[in-house]
Amino acid sequence: MSKVKEAYKEIENVLGSDFISDKDFMKAAYSRNVDPAFPDRWADIIVRPETAEEVSDIVKIANKYKIPMVPRGGGADLVGGAATQGGILLDLTRMNKILEVNKDDYYIVVECGITWGDLVSQLHPTGYTTGCIGPGSGYAATIGGGLSNSTAGGGSTKYGLVPDICLGVEVVLPNPQGTIIKTGAAANKYAKPFCRYGVSPDFTGLFMGDVGTMGIKTKAYLRLWRDPPFKASRNYLLNNGDYNNVFKLAHEVRNNIGDGLRDFMVLPQIIVQMTAGQLRTAEGKRIRIKGPLFQITLEATDQRILDIHLENLEKIMSKDKMTTLLPNPAGSAEGLEWNYNLKGNFHFFQASISPSPSNISMVTCHKVPISNMGQVYKKVIDFDIKNKDEFPDGNAWPPGTFATMQYLLPNGNFVVLGGFTGDNTDEAREKNMNMWHKKTRYQVRYGAVHYWLGESISQSIVEADAYTPEYRQFFKDMKKTVDPNFLLSPNKFHMHSYEDDITKYLVKDEE
Ligand SMILES: Cc1cc2nc3c(=O)[nH]c(=O)nc-3n(C[C@H](O)[C@H](O)[C@H](O)COP(=O)(O)OP(=O)(O)OC[C@H]3O[C@@H](n4cnc5c(N)ncnc54)[C@H](O)[C@@H]3O)c2cc1C
Repeated sequence: MSKVKEAYKEIENVLGSDFISDKDFMKAAYSRNVDPAFPDRWADIIVRPETAEEVSDIVKIANKYKIPMVPRGGGADLVGGAATQGGILLDLTRMNKILEVNKDDYYIVVECGITWGDLVSQLHPTGYTTGCIGPGSGYAATIGGGLSNSTAGGGSTKYGLVPDICLGVEVVLPNPQGTIIKTGAAANKYAKPFCRYGVSPDFTGLFMGDVGTMGIKTKAYLRLWRDPPFKASRNYLLNNGDYNNVFKLAHEVRNNIGDGLRDFMVLPQIIVQMTAGQLRTAEGKRIRIKGPLFQITLEATDQRILDIHLENLEKIMSKDKMTTLLPNPAGSAEGLEWNYNLKGNFHFFQASISPSPSNISMVTCHKVPISNMGQVYKKVIDFDIKNKDEFPDGNAWPPGTFATMQYLLPNGNFVVLGGFTGDNTDEAREKNMNMWHKKTRYQVRYGAVHYWLGESISQSIVEADAYTPEYRQFFKDMKKTVDPNFLLSPNKFHMHSYEDDITKYLVKDEE
């Protein structure tokens, strides 16, 4: 019997026959994330454990037979992270319960396979929130995926990325013992999981943004806030596309509205033209779209405070007569409206990604310091123009389009949403992938920091020679400590084995 067959039998004894499969139709169903730039990848075995102990038993069996494993949440990954060619694919979505909502101590305990859609639907009516309410893909994407992808999402302008709201995790290490550990306050067996730091070094961080390379997260302890009940959304259309002015206004809003600022997104002119051609002003007049759109959500614990925030916002935006105020055009299923809408805000990205559904997207979203807003825009356009002949057929976007779609994060950084599109054909695959890596390397070299990394982005970071040799060694040593047989998520970060010399993937002599 092959080692895969033997492992199958042993895992079946743990899970029962309903939650394991090696059938072709199942392998096909799990062969992709939302990342069609990658070829189909078929796992040998698909498993759907329900508890950390089951995950641990699977890990032990995988170690016994030296079979690689890849964890998967909602599979909404855009960068090749949650699929595997061969090996065991661990679908964690049966681990989908809220285990504790502690309103006294402001934390919540969830299983990592719960979707944001499920969590937010249950939590929102109670008047409590995790602050960051997950990515644009949140109806399917899970909390485990959010922690592993350092996800930015609804509420991130104020509350930060998903790892920023994390107080600790329960995680199964990929070692031969399938060790289960808890991090944060939960590492103290006498303590509640109410805070992150102070028991030992911050080992929670080892598993944040790891794209499933350091462990399999099974539970998460997350921060909880009373959801400020007074919210308002406002949209402002700028009368020109000067991104230095975008920076100035964004900075001023951040400085003056402070805690009242929940979400701040900039949609580029072209997207507004495509998605909201029928826009009208508050007075009902047709609008000429000459610049980007600010979508801003404010929140407060009291209507009077919210009114002051709104007044301040109006003052900033109307200062140089650069902006037009208009109702919410995008991201709202209910159409035009003035008020905060959970559904609309939850969906903020979908409304923008949909203009080119027939092509595939090679996404390169990343973060840069806020003061670089104008410069980055120029750099992206420069790259797109300089490399225009190398872009794959089917790239629907004019240069720099996406670089103008931006999302503020706490402190001095913001997300530049981005990417390009290409034909979804086998012939185009190599060209798509080459350009994707090249563009990402270019971003890394202008100091960009990404968030989802999967295979394509994590490999491009290595290719760009971002890490010092010392850092590369440290990373490898840490990975060896938790995964001595090198079984969890191979290929990410161009780690293909511990013996492999990573420097052979460096791409030099490139701008
Ligand atoms: C329309 C659309 C909108 C999107 N909007 C955003 C956005 O606004 N912000 C954003 O950050 N991303 C966004 N994404 C990308 C992606 O959906 C998110 O990053 C999301 O958090 C992934 O969650 P998931 O559960 O689907 O993870 P998966 O795709 O299943 O996995 C993602 C990575 O995490 C690992 N992983 C998953 N679960 C675990 C676990 N329990 N333990 C260890 N490793 C694990 C996987 O191996 C993989 O590398 C979007 C994608 C789409 C298609």
